Amino acid sequence: MDLTPNDWQRANLPPLAVVCPDCGSAAGQLCASHGGTRARNSQVRRGRTAVWEQARIDGNPAVRLILDAAKARRGMHGKHAAELLDAHGHTAEADRIRRAISERNGLLSAKQAAALLLDEAEGGESR
Ligand SMILES: [Zn+2]
Repeated sequence: MDLTPNDWQRANLPPLAVVCPDCGSAAGQLCASHGGTRARNSQVRRGRTAVWEQARIDGNPAVRLILDAAKARRGMHGKHAAELLDAHGHTAEADRIRRAISERNGLLSAKQAAALLLDEAEGGESR
């Protein structure tokens, strides 16, 4: 059964946009159950979610920049993420992060900053 992107959103299954590395289901098709006989309606396999998360990150250069730096730097703060974004020309994103830091009384890690940018780039409501 092929689903449309609208169906994925309704079912809260955006990972359906990617091919499943676990069961081999094509984009737009639900994950197969063990043995591949039956579709799984309510969930996708973990590997597919991981591929989807990585695709979201790879599709957003500012977010990727932060997360790559945060891997090498434990406890990285949001203000360092903003400095990094500025240094690479992502000035609008850097300003957004500084505003978020101020709104949260300084409590924003680099990872939270990346999640915020990603969410807002995709039309999320976390402003
Ligand atoms: Zn699958």
